[in-house]
Amino acid sequence: MSRIAFIGLGHMGSPMALNLLKAGHDLVVFDLVPAAVKVLTDAGAQAAPDARAAVQGADVAISMLPASRHVEGLYLGETELLAHIAQSTLVIECSTIAAESARKVAQAAAARGIRMIDAPVSGGTGGAAAGTLTFIVGGEAEALEAARPYLEKMGKNIFHAGSAGAGQVAKICNNMLLGILMAGTAEALALGAASGLDPKVLSDIISKSSGRNWATELYNPWPGVMDHAPASKGYAGGFGVDLMLKDLGLAAEAALHSRASTPLGELARNLYSLHSAQGNGPLDFSSILKLYKK
Ligand code: NAD
Repeated sequence: MSRIAFIGLGHMGSPMALNLLKAGHDLVVFDLVPAAVKVLTDAGAQAAPDARAAVQGADVAISMLPASRHVEGLYLGETELLAHIAQSTLVIECSTIAAESARKVAQAAAARGIRMIDAPVSGGTGGAAAGTLTFIVGGEAEALEAARPYLEKMGKNIFHAGSAGAGQVAKICNNMLLGILMAGTAEALALGAASGLDPKVLSDIISKSSGRNWATELYNPWPGVMDHAPASKGYAGGFGVDLMLKDLGLAAEAALHSRASTPLGELARNLYSLHSAQGNGPLDFSSILKLYKK
């Protein structure tokens, strides 16, 4: 069994780390929030006083942080973690960040002889808890193979998108589509409800018709339609509006760089931006329904 440093124990990192612990690995964990660390130490992990201490003697280091600035700050900036990681440690960076940031950190790791992959995930908090995440990997094939046994304890599908940063590009394309689909699903359900339909009945119909998608099948935005969905829990937990807004911003930046046209992605970014500005940033992104619901 391996010694794994896990940094960032939020909505996603916590259940992912718990699955590695359940698989029998030794976990040394760190998060800025003590309550997040306690969930893991209660389950048998060891707490480190900081990120540098966490990676000492680790076979693998995994990070799951909010955004590019946190990842760059951890590996290159303030914490300068790359200077404290041994060449024998495999680094798996799972946050959703700009492809450019992922490449920058990966190049710095390579310059120090450290193997690193970007491995952003899809599947939400439910997938993280069930160990059924999809990993979208960028980096060397050899590093992916070294990471595979660990990824398999947290996920079901593992894709190699290409070289460093490619995992992030694929992830951003996916999340732009997710943001559009969730807003579209909310819009359709609100139209049905305003026209006198029961949203649960309408959801059942859509989920067996051509408009079905991940939101209608697993993550319905209408409260009470799916007991397990964040919508039925006051939009608590799940994937934050501000994180979706970050991803739609990354998609917009990628579109600018590549001169691609993303009109629906831009519209979705504006909708989530408006929704966030109304004080909904920390809620789950399916709360975009509030913009439509009478
Ligand atoms: P979160 O905000 O719940 O968790 C992030 C954690 O990182 C927090 O506990 C925070 O304290 C910690 N942290 C921040 N800076 C740190 C540092 N320097 N050192 C140690 N800990 C630090 O976010 P989340 O929902 O777990 O998402 C994490 C990443 O996964 C994001 O990039 C997000 O876009 C992506 N993602 C989230 C979901 C989802 O459904 N929540 C799904 C797929 C991908």
